[in-house]
This record gives sequence, C-alpha cells and structure tokens, in this order.
Amino acid sequence: MIQTMLRNIRPRLPVLDLRTAQPAPKTADRELLTGVHRAWREAVLQRAGHRCEWMEHGVRCERSEPAYRLFADHVVERRDGGSALDVSNGQCLCAVHHGLKTFRERSRRMARLT
Ligand SMILES: [Zn+2]
Repeated sequence: MIQTMLRNIRPRLPVLDLRTAQPAPKTADRELLTGVHRAWREAVLQRAGHRCEWMEHGVRCERSEPAYRLFADHVVERRDGGSALDVSNGQCLCAVHHGLKTFRERSRRMARLT
C-alpha cells in the first residue's frame, strides 16, 4: 500500500543529464606545487615582462602585474603532450585570456570525443 503511494508521487519528468562527457574531477596537481614549476612560471612571466601575451587582431593585451593577476600557461597543454617545464611551451596570460584559452581547449577536446 505505502509502496504504491510512493510510486505514484515520483516526479513524472525524470532528470535528464544532457552532458556527453563528464568533466574530470578537480584534483590538486602535485606538479604545480613544486619548486621547479614555480621557477618555470617565473621564467615565463619574466620573459613576457610580466604582461599578458595574448594577441588579438595584432594587438597585445595591456594587462600586466601588479594591477592584474597573471598565469603561466602551457601553450600545448600537458595533457595534450606539451612539455611541462620548457619555457618555450609557456606563455604569460591574464585571468581573462587564460580562462578564454582554457575554455577553447576544453571545447576542442570535447568536440573530439563526439
Ligand atoms: Zn590578457
């Protein structure tokens, strides 16, 4: 009797998850915490003059330290086989452009999976 009642109050529309690929769980990346990685990051930022290196229509982004937080980004991401500690595989990006690049890479990666 009670089971029949519970069955009848189940939602009529099931929750449908349309995502085709679940993002990997976020975990702390040990490599990013090492001294050699910090040295790589500083070398990338220094080479860039502590200014974002993003180019848009031939114009370089103006954001620089200390007004803006900067990221040392891997041009070819490590998961795509890019070197983790080669300065030539690094570029200095502001938060906006680092986020944009990460979004584009993720979109490209997910497109490959379909
Ligand atoms: Zn920028």
